[in-house]
Amino acid sequence: MIKKMNFESRLQHYSFLSACTETAGELATQVFIIGGFVRDLVLGRESSEIDFLVLENGTDFATTYAGKLGVKNVTVFKNFGTAHFRYQEYDLEFVGARKESYERNSRKPTVFTGSFSDDINRRDFTINTLAISLNKDNYGELIDTYGGMIDIENKLIRTPIDPFITFDDDPLRIMRAFRFASQLNFQIDETVLQAANKLRDRLKIVSQERITDEFLKILSSDAPATGLIQLYKSGVLEIIFPEIANLAGVDQRQDYHHKDVFYHTCMVVDNISKMTDNIWLRFAALVHDIAKPQTKKFVEGTGWTFHGHEELGARMIKTLFKRMKLPFNKIEYVEKLVRLHLRPIALAKEEVTDSAIRRLIVAAGEDLADLIILCRADITSKNQEKVSRYLENYENVMKKVWEVEDKDKLRAFQSPVNGEEIMRICNLSPSRQVGEIKSAIEEAILDGKIGNNYDEALAYLMEIKRIML
Ligand code: ATP
Ligand code: MG
Repeated sequence: MIKKMNFESRLQHYSFLSACTETAGELATQVFIIGGFVRDLVLGRESSEIDFLVLENGTDFATTYAGKLGVKNVTVFKNFGTAHFRYQEYDLEFVGARKESYERNSRKPTVFTGSFSDDINRRDFTINTLAISLNKDNYGELIDTYGGMIDIENKLIRTPIDPFITFDDDPLRIMRAFRFASQLNFQIDETVLQAANKLRDRLKIVSQERITDEFLKILSSDAPATGLIQLYKSGVLEIIFPEIANLAGVDQRQDYHHKDVFYHTCMVVDNISKMTDNIWLRFAALVHDIAKPQTKKFVEGTGWTFHGHEELGARMIKTLFKRMKLPFNKIEYVEKLVRLHLRPIALAKEEVTDSAIRRLIVAAGEDLADLIILCRADITSKNQEKVSRYLENYENVMKKVWEVEDKDKLRAFQSPVNGEEIMRICNLSPSRQVGEIKSAIEEAILDGKIGNNYDEALAYLMEIKRIML
């Protein structure tokens, strides 16, 4: 079904597009904007990447069009029949209409020249099949072959053709489905989920880099749990990230059950995503309880325990990073956050010593603020009173941290009355006594008996001189 809707007025903002119409006229071809840009235009999202679909030759079109815009740098990929150039802040991509044919063991298709509808059919989701004509006869007209507009309205990820074929041809699309669902906060159509479930093993023909790339896009979205939960329910999570899928489930013994660690983790990830865009801090939130299944133990009279899950979890990070081809320079950061995620709460007690606080400061180093963000996100209780109490605990820990840091800063200071002066005033030669007098002055300052200034320190020296000598 072809619907008539016109986007001419919305395209006015992109005045450089009018030269497309001219180019298409001169080359006697047709050109359309297609895919993500159109989808995002409908959704009111900013997008700086524009894909052009050209009937016949996309690369000739790109060079002629670039000439009209005064752009000299056009990258042409002859083998792929695609071209790219930048104009202002936009990335413009050109491709000739194509038809694809897939082999079982590769997600890279053999490509033939095709028609407009061939090209639409090879696209992954209906919301990505929307096209806008840039041709003279129907400039601005929306071409919605597969009901993409209705799916956008219903916030639904559907495939233009049978999802089993879509996913079987290129299994990366399975990951893309969850990624779009998460980024756009859409649901995935039931049959699409079923196809993802049935064909999830096909993901093994996709490179780890591509899978990880899509996974990190899920983790970067506003509410990653939308994608994570659908990944879990479809059984895809157990293929791409079994350690997280294993967190699901609840055990009951006598009157004790523990909360479902997978759903808890999803909440923690959503919580932290409201606090930070730092993807590695979000990743730490995702894996902070990763070793709970291995450390789970039922203790008579106590209930479920997970002793040592933070240490074992930290030790699992390196292997995980290697397998998922994540950047090695982030291993230490994630390990540290996982290892320390229980420490701040243990320090919330009233009677905690300065040295325990100091050990945390040293262990967390420059990542202490991030650790506290993780701890705050880790609070998923539904009981508001508990939530406020826990949050207050972390504030108290931070207060203690600042106090200890202040004291330590003070410790590193130099007495306002130096050794030379002490020797002169007390008539002493270099000796241990000089050092003792100096530390006595410093202690008096640390204890707040006197201010940290020359006059008070000198007066204090005069006073202790009588007692100490
Ligand atoms: P974004 O750029 O925001 O990630 P997008 O929809 O523009 O989203 P791209 O990867 O830039 O996604 O691809 C552009 C268009 O190409 C898509 O909208 C879709 O129509 C098509 N496409 C991309 N990858 C695939 C694929 N693996 N299978 C089928 N169609 C695809
Ligand atoms: Mg794009």
